[in-house]
Amino acid sequence: MDCLFCKIIAGDIPSDIVNEDEKLIAFRDINPQAPTHVLIIPRQHIATLNHLDVDDGELIGHMTLSATTLAKEMGIADSGYRLVWNCNREGGQDVFHIHLHLLGGRTMHWPPG
Ligand code: 5GP
Ligand code: ZN
Repeated sequence: MDCLFCKIIAGDIPSDIVNEDEKLIAFRDINPQAPTHVLIIPRQHIATLNHLDVDDGELIGHMTLSATTLAKEMGIADSGYRLVWNCNREGGQDVFHIHLHLLGGRTMHWPPG
C-alpha cells in the first residue's frame, strides 16, 4: 500500500520513535509546529476518522492515553499541550493514515488557524 505512515511502521522510512506497542507507534513530526510535536498512529491502516467504526473506540482511547502519558514523560503535562486530529482536506489532513498530534512546549492560540 502506498501509505507514508505504513512505510514508517514497516521501518522502510526512518523515524524518531518515542514509544511503541502492539497497537501503535509514536514518533516525532518531521516538521514540528511546537517544541514538542509527536504523532501517534495506529499500526492498523485507517485512512481518515470517517473510516472508524464502533469497534475502534478502544483503539482511539488507547491512542489518547498514550498521548497523555507521553505528555507527562516529556514534561509538558503541567504547562499544557494540545491534541489534534485533522480530517480530510478542510480539516488540514495531508497524510491519509489517521494520526493524533501531540503539541506542547509553547502557548497555543484559539481559535486555531
Ligand atoms: P496532517 O496534516 O495529515 O494532520 O499531518 C501530517 C503530519 O505528518 C505533518 O505534521 C507532517 O509534518 C508529518 N510528516 C509528513 N511526512 C513525514 C515523515 O516522513 N516523517 C515524519 N516524522 N513526519 C512526517
Ligand atoms: Zn497507512
